[in-house]
Amino acid sequence: MRILLVTPPLTQLNTPYPATPYLAGYLSKQGVDVFQQDLGIELIDRLFTADMLTTIFESVDEASVTSHTDAKILALRSRYVSTIEPVVRFLRSNDLTLANRIGKRGFLPEGDRFRHIADLEFLFGDLGVVDRAKHLSTLYIEDISDFIRRNVSPHFELIRYAESLCIALPTFDSLKAMVDGVPNLIDRLIVDTFSDYFNEVKPDVVGYTIPFPGNLYAALACAKWLKQNYSNVKVLMGGGYVSTELRDLADPRLFEYIDYLLYDDGEISILRLLEYLEGNRGEDSLVRTSFLKDGAIVNVSNALLDVPGGERPAPLYSQLPIGKYLDMVETANPMLKLWSDGRWNKLILAHGCYWAKCAFCDVTLDYIKRFEPYDATAIVDMMENVMGQTGQSGFHFVDEAAPPALLKKISLEIIRRGLTVSWWANVRFERSFTRDLCLLMARAGCIAVSGGLEVASDRLLALMSKGVDIKQTAKVTSAFSSAGILVHAYLMYGFPSETTQETIDSLEVVRQLFEQKLIQSAFWHRFAMTVHSPAGCNPEKYGAKFLSNKKNPFANNEIFFTDNADTDLEMLGEGLRKATYNYMHSIGFEKNVVTWFDGKVPQTKVPPTLVAGCLVTVKNEHFPDSGTLVWLADGYQLLLTDSRRPKLHIFNQSKVVEVIFRLEEIGFWEDFFLLLEEKGYFIGVEEVKALAKAHLDSGVEAISASKVWKSLRKNGLAIV
Ligand code: SF4
Repeated sequence: MRILLVTPPLTQLNTPYPATPYLAGYLSKQGVDVFQQDLGIELIDRLFTADMLTTIFESVDEASVTSHTDAKILALRSRYVSTIEPVVRFLRSNDLTLANRIGKRGFLPEGDRFRHIADLEFLFGDLGVVDRAKHLSTLYIEDISDFIRRNVSPHFELIRYAESLCIALPTFDSLKAMVDGVPNLIDRLIVDTFSDYFNEVKPDVVGYTIPFPGNLYAALACAKWLKQNYSNVKVLMGGGYVSTELRDLADPRLFEYIDYLLYDDGEISILRLLEYLEGNRGEDSLVRTSFLKDGAIVNVSNALLDVPGGERPAPLYSQLPIGKYLDMVETANPMLKLWSDGRWNKLILAHGCYWAKCAFCDVTLDYIKRFEPYDATAIVDMMENVMGQTGQSGFHFVDEAAPPALLKKISLEIIRRGLTVSWWANVRFERSFTRDLCLLMARAGCIAVSGGLEVASDRLLALMSKGVDIKQTAKVTSAFSSAGILVHAYLMYGFPSETTQETIDSLEVVRQLFEQKLIQSAFWHRFAMTVHSPAGCNPEKYGAKFLSNKKNPFANNEIFFTDNADTDLEMLGEGLRKATYNYMHSIGFEKNVVTWFDGKVPQTKVPPTLVAGCLVTVKNEHFPDSGTLVWLADGYQLLLTDSRRPKLHIFNQSKVVEVIFRLEEIGFWEDFFLLLEEKGYFIGVEEVKALAKAHLDSGVEAISASKVWKSLRKNGLAIV
């Protein structure tokens, strides 16, 4: 049986979404004939061409265009048509020399998006001509996208399609009406792009992954075409949106378009379903699958069946058109740029979250609650495998919270193999991220981390069981930043019982974190209570009360509630965003935080030195009881020619540090460096202790008090 796995439009433009590569990797290892289509990037590939732009401009009735913006774009249509293909080539990094022309302005037509352009020299001065040109090209593509949305398809956005139709859908009525309605030009292009590949592959089964609401409509439009033209083809749907919002689906009309809904991890569910469709299994052996039987929705669970971590092969990226993805630069902020710029290979390090306690998180769902870390060696094998498939050495570990113990092992393995890779991950700001672990991670290629600080208030962090506090966050972000790792903070406002005072204080903590250069970017989310979170299961515990308890027949996710907080969330949200936008550009640290808000808010009660005060470091450390010593410096030289002044040189790029040490330590340091080389630059603490005991009367404490040791710890010897 042949299966086609599709990511419907739209997700990211710069790199593939990992769901279908993971499923395809597993299914292909099981001998299934599997194909993939990233329908989003294929849509963009067809849309942003001279021919298609011409069609789009011709489809718009000029006489009906009233806005000055659209009239201007129509007047400049020939400029858009002549530049679109060169710009797409440039954004695919196939023609980087064009950066010089784009960067000078005057080459690209400029619509509304350029009106608010910040000072380019200020923003991109340090980043260079290519990033500046990518930014201008991004604005140009966004102008075209806005034009399409206003005049051709109200659903079109660059990283989602028809999301506003599919967010918070209590009933299927409005979405069904749109799917059954008259398709617009973009709807038709989506279905044509899908059907062309479908006819090439001729699968027996088509599976759509729906990670977000903004992928649902396009999937249903294609599924409708399948039911009308190939009713024998079985259609299934799964992914994050299905597993989160459609668990309690009661409306059977969705099954007019699809045959099966699959929940949680799809590997075993799809394999079982294919075996069932081939007649090799009974219906009762399906896994976490819903379908329609005699007019009623049936759910077969077999919930515990899953692929053990060790049996998961590398994701299959080679079936996707890596060369078609586009680098978009919306902002000069180096951390925010990572989300839209670069072909990051996405990998998963563990199933679930090792913490799984936060009150606002979907911890009752399998993808969070079932924690199973994968083997570090197997992950680094996967990294090598995926690099071979895509030719790209950058990785985004997409776990909700990457476990520090596993990141340590992976970093050691990357260094041991001498791999040159870059990677970034989501983490919790927890104490295990010591200065040394951060240095090790940086040496292994970690360039950035993102983590939840949520509401920067110790009362609320405790109430939501986040397991971190402000002091710890300051220390951990300091460890990352001083290792050269960029830090992004996820922030939240509007948590039940949160007062305006706490929101203002939270912003003041964030201001101080930016000012101390401990974080480089941040984003405020308005708190949403979801049915699968501890807060949604037990609102009273958090001082909240449901406005309604009724289950929806279609999607169930956000629950509306009241609490006693007297906050104006609109006004607060606006001020928080304004302040943080400025902080991300290193502007406005001197301003009192209350000045960012349009309404009346109280002065902060947070002392101005709160964050700085958390960063006091301990100077003298004891030799550790356990762990591994890892050599991170570039080189060393022991100079023993002057018998009265033995010296050690430590080399780091252009820096050389010289330390003179005591005569009685000569034997120890000679053997220490011999052992270090012998062991591949990793030594157990116990081995160093034994060495010290053999050479020095006072053992290892004499070593940890020595000048050489202090210098090594400062310049390239980590203990993890
Ligand atoms: S918010 Fe993050 S750390 Fe907290 S339980 Fe969810 S995934 Fe884990």
